[in-house]
Formats: sequence, structure tokens, C-alpha cells
Amino acid sequence: MTTTSDRPLQLLKDRLATISDVSAAEAALDWDRQTYMPEGGVEGRAEQLAALRRLAHEILVSKETRSLLEVLDEPEPGSEDFALARLARRDFERAVRLPAELVAELTRASALAQPAWERARAASDWATFAPHLEKLMRLQRETAEHLGYEDHPYDALLDLYEPGSTKARVQQMFEELKTLLVPMIHEIGALPNEGRSRPLYGEFDEAKQEEFGRGVISDFGYDWGRGRLDRVVHPFCAPLGGPGDVRITARFDRGWLSPALFAILHEAGHALYEQGVTPSYSRSPLSGGTSMGVHESQSRLWENLVGRSRAFWSFYYPRLKETFPEPLGETDPETFYRAVNEARPSEIRVEADELTYNLHILLRFELEVALIEEDLSISDLPAAWDAKTEEYLDLTAENHAQGVLQDVHWAAGLVGYFPTYSIGNVLSAQFFEAATKAHPEIPEMMGRGDFEALLGWMRANVYRHGRRYYPDELVEMATGHPLDTKPYLRYLKSKFGELYELT
Ligand code: ZN
Repeated sequence: MTTTSDRPLQLLKDRLATISDVSAAEAALDWDRQTYMPEGGVEGRAEQLAALRRLAHEILVSKETRSLLEVLDEPEPGSEDFALARLARRDFERAVRLPAELVAELTRASALAQPAWERARAASDWATFAPHLEKLMRLQRETAEHLGYEDHPYDALLDLYEPGSTKARVQQMFEELKTLLVPMIHEIGALPNEGRSRPLYGEFDEAKQEEFGRGVISDFGYDWGRGRLDRVVHPFCAPLGGPGDVRITARFDRGWLSPALFAILHEAGHALYEQGVTPSYSRSPLSGGTSMGVHESQSRLWENLVGRSRAFWSFYYPRLKETFPEPLGETDPETFYRAVNEARPSEIRVEADELTYNLHILLRFELEVALIEEDLSISDLPAAWDAKTEEYLDLTAENHAQGVLQDVHWAAGLVGYFPTYSIGNVLSAQFFEAATKAHPEIPEMMGRGDFEALLGWMRANVYRHGRRYYPDELVEMATGHPLDTKPYLRYLKSKFGELYELT
């Protein structure tokens, strides 16, 4: 029965459902843009996407939404409705604080910056990109001021991707990571380069790569009745409006096994999260992942803690060898395990191994904080980038394309996003440790290609909640602790200590 006081809640839910439908339509068109759309669709599609985004924004910031939020009776704390109202308020507040002209200017500036970045990177030409970044950083600072913060403008930007996190907390996390990682990487870097990853290069038929990857993620529990896999240039996972349609994509290289294989495992991790959200949360703000960091913890968990483990390959390597008898004929399982875990400082973040990856993120985090503080000028950025690359990775940057111009994030208007990759790494080990504590048989099961216990724990403790809890609440509930670097450091130390016989 609907009483009069339930009425605003129901009306609010109806509006939020419409917003969710519009956003899902936008996501579907964007998926199409990146997979099958012919070149001729580019301009029309940009207009369609912008129109849908505008529409969703207008419904959210409308007078009607505001008055519903004002008259809403506070739902019972802890209930789903409470979580829904809390998220609706948060999304609304954030949206109304940003003036429409600023949002439009950011969208325009980044639309211009992205092709400029592509050209600049191709030519390794910093000077043509610098003015774009100058403008984007100014707009980001303005955005932070409008959003508001307690301690630091960076907090306001970080909060967009990782609700509740702050610059101070991220700094603390990196301090803890650095004490182990920096000496360990220097130690490995000083060892002779044996070219451990060699078995991953050769002639690998793309269709067979795809078939193998599909087999593995079917074993993980990816549901093909609610998903599909397609080919793209930059892999991503596309949830199209709820757990009923969660698509993944991959990029293939017939001369190199890693990109497709690990992209499929990575994107499947994101997809398992989305497919596991409580179905009744669909068409509401409760659907989807609670933060970029928690999302990334799942892609990293399935890609790395599972997909680069010895247990995993003890089961899957014989199958892989059967699929590719020619190129892998001479390689034994242990050599292959070492190949997929080669750790070596390299310039390119997206090709970095588990160990060095976080230092790429640390470098970007420190630089973007300095840019927001105006402690670092755009013209000094390339030199600062090179200095940190030298400090953390012992590498001298070859050129700007391999250095400061390598990532699209800043051009795409994403500042405060990078740390979520490292938060995800840290959480991946924290969740995995909690799951194996509850089910000590998980590693042994992985060695039989059986992921039921692991997936079951993740579904029960993380996935089903969607956005119902903020990241801190969820992590504490699932693992008994707030974000904690210790499980991750234990994991890296034991794995790479053994792989490289470190003392
Ligand atoms: Zn990811």
C-alpha cells in the first residue's frame, strides 16, 4: 500500500529510473561507437551522445527532483531506500554545484584536447598539446572550487571517482607501498635481463586466442546469456543498464599473447562485478560498482591474483599448449609462469608488470597534485615527469610520446582518476585474502579451474551490494578493516621475492 508520505519516494524513484534508462542508452550508443559504427557515424554519434548526457543531467538537476528531495521523509537508516536517497542527494548536489557553462567548457576543451593529444603523441610534440592541458587544468581547478572540499582541492576531484578518499589518504597509501616497492624494483633492475617474457611472443592465431580466453572466463563464471565479447582498439567493459547486459571487449595481437589474454581476464573481472549486482537495483542509482577503485580491484583480482598465479597456470597451461603446440612446444609450465610475471621497469604504464605498475601511478598522482596546486607549471611538466621516471623506475625517458604524452586521461578531463588504479591493486589483495580466509580451499580449487568459492564470496560480500554502500563501508564490512596495504605488500613480497630469489 502506498501512503501519502511514500509518494515523493516513488516519484523520485521514477525520475531516477528515467535517468538510468537515458544513461544506459548513451552507454549502448557509445559501445556501438567503439565496436561496429562505420567511420561516417562519428559526427552524428557525438551529437547523439551529448544530447543524451544533457537530457540525463537536466532531469537530475530539475526543479522537480529538487522538490522531491526536499519533501522526502528520511528512510530508515541502513535500508535500501536510505542508500538510494543518500546517493540521489549526492549525485544531485554534485550536479547542481557545477555551473552549466563550466561543464560545457570542460566538455568542449576535452573534445578538442583529445585529437590534439593524439597528434602530439604521434609526433612526440609536447608544445602543441601544452596549451590544451593548461586550459584543462585551469578548468579542473575551477571544478574543484565549485564542488568544494575540506583540506585540498584535489580531494574534490578524487571524490568524483573514489567517494570518501582524500589526497592525504592516497599519499599515506603510496608511502607504505613505496617502502617495499622502490628497493625491490631497484634490486630486480640490477639483475641481468634474462628476457623471461620471450615465450609470450610468436605466432598465435587470433581466433584461437579468443577461444581460449572465452573458455577461461566461462570457467570464472562470466554469463554469456548476459554478455558478449567484441574487438576494439582500447579494451573496456560496458554495463548497459544493469546485470542483464554487461559486455566486454579486447584487442588482439597475433604476435604477442599478453594483450588479448590479460585484457579478457581484466574486463571479465569488471563484468563479473556488474553481473553480480542485485537485479532489483537496476534502473536506480544503486546499480553498478561503488567506486572506480573497488571496480578496479575486481579486474585486477581476476587478471593478476587469479590469472597470473601458479595454481591457475598449473591447470590452464596444458590447455594453452594444446591450443598453440607450435610456439609453446619448448616451454615448460614454470617457464611460462615466470614469463607472465616478468617484472622490469618500463616506460609505458599500460605495459607495466604488477610490481612496477604502482610507481607509474604514484608519479602521475604527484604530478597532477602539483599541477592543481600550481606548484608546477605546465611548461615544467615534461622535465618533472622525466625526473620522477628516473627516480622511481631508473629509466631515462626516450621522448615525450613514451613519457608525459603517453596517457589520454588528462586530455580526457580525468584528474584524480589515476590513484583509483592503485587503490584497486591494494583492495584486490585485501578482498582475496578475506575470501581465502573464509574459504581456505580457494587456491587449490583454482588449480582445478574451479572458481565457485571465490566468485561466491565476491558476490555475497561485494558484487550484490552495487552502490548501496560507500567504498569505505563496503571494504570494512567485507574484510573487517578499512583499506589496508598489508595484504597487498605481503602478496607482492612473497610472489616476487620467490620469482627473483630476493633476500
Ligand atoms: Zn580496469
